[in-house]
Amino acid sequence: MTTMADPPTTIATAADDDGYRILALYKFVDPKLNADDLPALKQSIESHCRAHHVRGSLLLAPEGINGTISYPCKSTTEDPVVAFLESQFPGLRTRISTSQGHVFYRLKIKVKKEILTCRTTTTATETEQQQQQQQQQPQQQEEQDLLTLDPTQQVGQYVPPGPEWDALLRDPDCLVIDARNDYEVRIGTFQNAQDPNTSTFSELIPWMKTALQEQKPKKVAMFCTGGIRCEKATAACMDLARQQQQEDIPVYHLEGGILAYLDTVPAKESLWQGACYVFDQRVAVTHGLQAAPHYTMCHACRAPLSHEEQEGHPDFIHGLQCRYCKVARSHKSVERATARQKQIELAQQKGLLHIHDPKEKVLRVLAQKDGVVGDSGDEEAPEMLA
Ligand SMILES: [Zn+2]
Repeated sequence: MTTMADPPTTIATAADDDGYRILALYKFVDPKLNADDLPALKQSIESHCRAHHVRGSLLLAPEGINGTISYPCKSTTEDPVVAFLESQFPGLRTRISTSQGHVFYRLKIKVKKEILTCRTTTTATETEQQQQQQQQQPQQQEEQDLLTLDPTQQVGQYVPPGPEWDALLRDPDCLVIDARNDYEVRIGTFQNAQDPNTSTFSELIPWMKTALQEQKPKKVAMFCTGGIRCEKATAACMDLARQQQQEDIPVYHLEGGILAYLDTVPAKESLWQGACYVFDQRVAVTHGLQAAPHYTMCHACRAPLSHEEQEGHPDFIHGLQCRYCKVARSHKSVERATARQKQIELAQQKGLLHIHDPKEKVLRVLAQKDGVVGDSGDEEAPEMLA
């Protein structure tokens, strides 16, 4: 698992004195890993993670690794988790922020076909709906199969957060694409960015195709939370431009994503507006990667909810539904959410966490004592997106 041609990619970390680190990471590898080796690699990473009390989600696939984890770590000592993962994945792209406690309830490491899928992205509430859509769009899928979605073969030009990126945002000839999903864009985005209004990453490619055709931009720039989606999206965009005889268009992406921008650009100089959705209990972060206040996550659909969309909103039922999932949800997901909410309330009455990881040594821990942040669900994000 080496990546010979890669530039040094680990990005500097924020100051961390709070005791817990939140590490967002990904790496696309070249050559690909052997699928047969992944179970052993998973086991090795898992035992290392458990030894360091790591929680969160990691995906492993022949194309690489992707995930977000949290763990206790003193700022004065070397970070053994990063060191180990970098030894397994040289050139690992990382973004570290800090917290006063874990932002996940348990550790999950999964072996998958891809670390970021472009075709079968599903959410807990929309699986059936999307399966229907996929059946209805065979042509779209075939077109997508012809695109290069391997960022180790081709990828857009990285632009660091700061003046160079801001110049692209201000450039009227540049099509700036927010490569994230609608529920993420809703609570914050860059000035002048276009919202493709997608509910899954798979929908971004057909949107880009139309945007190139109709807007005929001279440049394209895109961004996502931590950069992983733009790795595949810029690769696809370069192919789409070529198909439309627009191969000379430069395609850029924000290096390290929004998280890098918020980590390095001061609020008063920033062209970022709002908060950045993250797939953990913080729900959203803002400049300095501080948790954004006033947001909570719908337990049913994981949509970020502003203060006004929570208690008091006619469509909000705590733990069961919000204004965004009220209509779309299947009967089954309503049942799941109801059962889950009962579990939470029962555990809260007893002063216990509602879910525990049976593999962790401490099974019953008071939420406050353990420093768990927030009150959102423990299930892994429907898509591991950074
Ligand atoms: Zn909801």
